[in-house]
Amino acid sequence: MHANNGLDERCRKLLEDFKKLEVEYQKTKRALEIREIEVRAILAQAHELANTDVLTFLPNRRKIISSLQEEVIRSNRYGAPLSISILDIDHFKKVNDTYGHTAGDEVLRNVAARLRTHIRHPDTIGRYGGEEFLIVLPNSQMQAAAEQASRLCQQVRNLQIDVNENILSVTISIGVAQFRIGQENWEEFLHRADEAMYQAKDQGRDRWAVAE
Ligand code: GH3
Ligand code: MG
Ligand code: MG
Repeated sequence: MHANNGLDERCRKLLEDFKKLEVEYQKTKRALEIREIEVRAILAQAHELANTDVLTFLPNRRKIISSLQEEVIRSNRYGAPLSISILDIDHFKKVNDTYGHTAGDEVLRNVAARLRTHIRHPDTIGRYGGEEFLIVLPNSQMQAAAEQASRLCQQVRNLQIDVNENILSVTISIGVAQFRIGQENWEEFLHRADEAMYQAKDQGRDRWAVAE
């Protein structure tokens, strides 16, 4: 009788300890779950930052090139047409030289916003270089890219940018290329678009040209 009482007491104590542990375990588990969500959010932010251009908030060079590489793979695999455009602001150095680098930055931000507003999903635009942008147009033939280029030239031409009480306007030159499926790599493709962009410059700027 006496011995049994001692056993009951030990069992009761063990059960009590177990319940406490269970509560502790559940608390720690919840804390870990919350921590995991926080870490995921921080990682997502870091990923976003690593892929975003800080001046224009467009995808940066690394991101837009990676999109291009993915679309080239897709185009080769499924035979889907793919086009790109390289856009370069005309005489941009003059904007900096005349109004200052900060004004130049403001012009860049405005042009980037206008371009982004006027391209449609699933096309994507990124800041490719200083005053250069790259647009990737999946499932698009040259014709569609050329029509877009013409529209974008007009949109930028009509843009009036208010900087320190000056109204500035700029123009862009665009080189358009359609991917030669199975015949070139992404770098050659990009190079052809770049060449076309320089052709547009040579022909007088504020226009688009098609790659050979
Ligand atoms: P073109 O019509 O031949 O393209 O002439 P351009 O003056 O635009 O070309 P160039 O390549 O000579 O000059 C580009 C200028 O863009 C030079 C550089 O200082 C400026 N630039 C590049 N990145 C930035 C930037 O982030 N902010 C500002 N404000 N200027 C930039
Ligand atoms: Mg340039
Ligand atoms: Mg330029």
